[in-house]
Amino acid sequence: MKARGLIKTAEVERALLTIRREEFLPKELREESYLDCPLPLFDTGQTISAPHMVAIMVESLDLKGCPRVLEVGAGSGYAACVMAEVINPTDGELKCPKVQSIEIDPFLVKFARANVRSTGYDNRVDIIEGDGALGLPEMAPFDRIMVSAAAPSVPQALVDQLSEGGRMLVPIGTNIWGQRLYSIKKLGNEQKKEFLLDVAFVPLRRYGR
Ligand code: SAH
Repeated sequence: MKARGLIKTAEVERALLTIRREEFLPKELREESYLDCPLPLFDTGQTISAPHMVAIMVESLDLKGCPRVLEVGAGSGYAACVMAEVINPTDGELKCPKVQSIEIDPFLVKFARANVRSTGYDNRVDIIEGDGALGLPEMAPFDRIMVSAAAPSVPQALVDQLSEGGRMLVPIGTNIWGQRLYSIKKLGNEQKKEFLLDVAFVPLRRYGR
């Protein structure tokens, strides 16, 4: 991936090399874990993102300076742990806030929690069950929000929960094809919206759908 020029900072490279993706996959897929593509999470219809996508998103979020981070769509817990490793490296003291990651599928909540615990990240990542489109008002504001599922439009609740100058990455699109990943920066009542790249994410769901 480094050869492809995707990883630009040493912190993100180190985090991707530290976290073993195989430990976030169903056992029967572990041999596939180093293929740079999304992989299915059991029969949930959900996927763990490709490592290069996690790398691009984590790089673009710019996690320097102890940001308060929210992820929407924990899935396996992999991306949350990569962010936690950038923010609170394993070999340092824990001085920054825990990454908060919301997951709507109760089965994946259990899976992500088990992965986070068994890899030793439960001191740096919280997996919360709920509808991430509503954010996590009780812990807001957040300096960074990573939305790991495609929304039809920028979720207003998440914009409201961004801190001043805070940034959110969100894939926008109603179909698996033609989605666009945007970076949204909150500046007062304005939002600076920047297109990053074309992507394909599973849809952001609501309860009962
Ligand atoms: N970041 C994950 C992959 C995310 S796949 C990883 O590293 O493995 C997208 C996830 O978003 C799925 O697990 C899906 O169940 C979850 N999801 C979809 N809609 C959601 C919502 N409204 N709130 C929280 N999670 C949601």
